Amino acid sequence: MKPIRIFSITIILFLVCVSAAAQTLTLNVDASDAARNIVHTRITIPVRPGPMTLFYPKWIPGEHTPTGPIDDLVGLKLSAGGKTIPWRRDDVEMFAFHCEIPQGVSTLDVSFDDASQPESTASAKLARLKWNRLLVYPEGMTSDSISVKASLKLPTGWRLASALPVAGDNKQELQFKAVSLTELVDSPAIIGANLRDVPLTSNGIMHEMDIAADTTAALEMKPETLTGLKRIVQEAYALFGARHYRSYKFLVTLSDHGGSEGLEHHESSEDGVGEKAFSEELELLDFAELIGHEYAHSWNGKYRRPAGLATPDFEQPMRGELLWVYEGLTQYLGKVLPSRSGLWTADDFREAMASVAADMENQSGREWRPLVDTAVAVQLTYPSPRAWLNYRRRVDYYDEGSLVWLEADVLIRTRSNGKLSLDDFCKRFHGGQATGPMVKPYTFDDVVNTLNDVMPYDWRAFLNARINAVNPHAPIAGITDGGWKLVYTDKPNTEIRIADHTRKTVDLSFSIGVLLKEDGSVLDVNPNLAAFKAGVAPGMKILSVNGRTWSPDVLHEAIASAKDNRNPIELVVENGSFNETYKVNYHAGERYPHLERDERKPDVLGEVIKSRAK
Ligand SMILES: [Zn+2]
Repeated sequence: MKPIRIFSITIILFLVCVSAAAQTLTLNVDASDAARNIVHTRITIPVRPGPMTLFYPKWIPGEHTPTGPIDDLVGLKLSAGGKTIPWRRDDVEMFAFHCEIPQGVSTLDVSFDDASQPESTASAKLARLKWNRLLVYPEGMTSDSISVKASLKLPTGWRLASALPVAGDNKQELQFKAVSLTELVDSPAIIGANLRDVPLTSNGIMHEMDIAADTTAALEMKPETLTGLKRIVQEAYALFGARHYRSYKFLVTLSDHGGSEGLEHHESSEDGVGEKAFSEELELLDFAELIGHEYAHSWNGKYRRPAGLATPDFEQPMRGELLWVYEGLTQYLGKVLPSRSGLWTADDFREAMASVAADMENQSGREWRPLVDTAVAVQLTYPSPRAWLNYRRRVDYYDEGSLVWLEADVLIRTRSNGKLSLDDFCKRFHGGQATGPMVKPYTFDDVVNTLNDVMPYDWRAFLNARINAVNPHAPIAGITDGGWKLVYTDKPNTEIRIADHTRKTVDLSFSIGVLLKEDGSVLDVNPNLAAFKAGVAPGMKILSVNGRTWSPDVLHEAIASAKDNRNPIELVVENGSFNETYKVNYHAGERYPHLERDERKPDVLGEVIKSRAK
């Protein structure tokens, strides 16, 4: 998945007084007000008289943290036979609601609204519907043991796409087949006024991209983009050698107001990007990586899942220690697959790996925090604020994880003289027999053992040194042993241009050591570099540069021209209600990372991204 928010909690186990009779829930969702960021829901639950606790999904698969948006649950009402039943939220577990089912009652009706934040899940023309936001269930039951029969009312003229099987379509109300609560939550929907289905395979297992957009113009895709998307399906199959889904749908939303998203599922992915993702060059590159990443998760994350993340319900806490496999390997494959498919060029791949390597090397927090702690502490690192992020370290198990897997790939290729690669690991670990959606949990030992099956090596020591130890330097041997050097020039890096374009930032991390908003606000600093040493800190705002009013270009020019003289760059900076002048002593010019060919070694990186599909 991609980043979002929320905080951590204390977990309390309750006495479960749940009726064993509760098996099939009925879920009636009315999304006719989705464009106003409110969705109405009604759940019917079989019950027995006595105390009962209802639970709102808290630990959401793929999010690895207690991110169920409980604060968006409003208007909660419980009733039976037309009579109101009082409820009380648990004093400690905010996601649990206690009630007393009266004698003679066998069915409980629950209704509430999902009031989402504007610009998060819906725009005026489309919405992403996540079933976990729209239901409560009897606490203490596993999600496999609960069956849910859902229906959905759409806004007039809107259509739906989802991996959830549809049983019938009665005017504006869709009826779905009954599925387990696990499958339901794993099968979200996109709905919209402008919806286009794009088949990606013509025979065999169905693969489809379903696209909802704010305008019909945004749905237009270049022929070479469609060819690349079709090829990514083939390349993934060539990589893993088997699939673990019955069919697959990429559920894409294109909107500058419907929020961004990237969330994996067994048989679909939610891919929420900007309205111009198909037409703007940088956004299309970003989109290709998102698609590659979320699709690879169907194997690495959904089918094979760390034991600590394979929980039986939405109440048990998840353990993130192996996220450098779950997300790190996926982050690597999310760059490899678009490159093998032609959606990225070889240069795009190298620019991305250069950016990742430089970024990880540049994290001052690596002097205190081992990579594994960014994963173990995912409840903290995922919603971490931007200020002092360079010093904190954020979710580095993604990017540094991808460097570790690149290094493993290059090591296997080099030591086997090109006969073996990480593809062989993926085939053994994630492929095997084709199955429908299922979870096969794994441990650290399983990862080590499968790597050893591919190529005997001290993989335990290899991984321990990179994952569990504090390392002042980033693991970039995959690049240097792969025939390339990490260099810095004044030419902007493609990946950094993408990030600046989509975040509306000015990334000067590798020169004066700051990340700025386009208005000059300081988002973060590197405590080892020149801007911080001059006095700059997160939360300040640059007002002027060498006497000229702030603009990104004025600062770029000042950094470039400081290379030719000994004068400091003078910044007037606002700190609360005070203005200060800081002198930044920096004379190395603009600096952006790139990879430069090392002719002494074979180009293994070039081998990594060669097409494998027939
Ligand atoms: Zn992910």
